[in-house]
Amino acid sequence: MAKAYLGLGANLGEKQKHLTAAVSFLGERAGRILALSSFYASEPWGFESGNDFLNLALALETSFRPLDLLCLTQEIERDLGRRRETKGIYCDRVIDIDILLYEDLTLTLPRLILPHPLMHLRRFVLAPMVEIAPQMRHPLLKKNMQELLLAIND
Ligand code: ADP
Ligand code: MG
Repeated sequence: MAKAYLGLGANLGEKQKHLTAAVSFLGERAGRILALSSFYASEPWGFESGNDFLNLALALETSFRPLDLLCLTQEIERDLGRRRETKGIYCDRVIDIDILLYEDLTLTLPRLILPHPLMHLRRFVLAPMVEIAPQMRHPLLKKNMQELLLAIND
């Protein structure tokens, strides 16, 4: 069993409902939810949109390996009605599920980078992470979530 941290976001439609549905799909298909943050509201990051985001983070105990977990999270995104956009372009989405951390793993593959390459820059990722795992250490930056949150000023 491995422990992973996921970051979820939604900025279209009934955001809270989509997030709650994604969390229960993850609990049914991906493993056991060990911790779940509150909902965090934030403004869109990296693109212009009138639709605010709602985010949360969770800890998951899973027997899926990283790429299989990614396949599963993308399948859940599709099941919740997300259509794939052009890679690298930020836009509105019903649901976004990112793998933030997977154990202490550092990995750079075309489809999967661990830790998530932008997590340490995003308040909407770090704030919920601090709620559920303040002492969790970023394996590359060697700082915990609390320290990373204090270090950003956006
Ligand atoms: P973003 O989450 O950056 O807003 P997407 O959800 O559309 O954008 O993801 C784009 C691509 O990022 C996915 O197709 C996926 O293969 C890749 N990716 C790389 N690393 C990760 C990760 N740690 N978690 C989730 N997706 C990742
Ligand atoms: Mg994503």
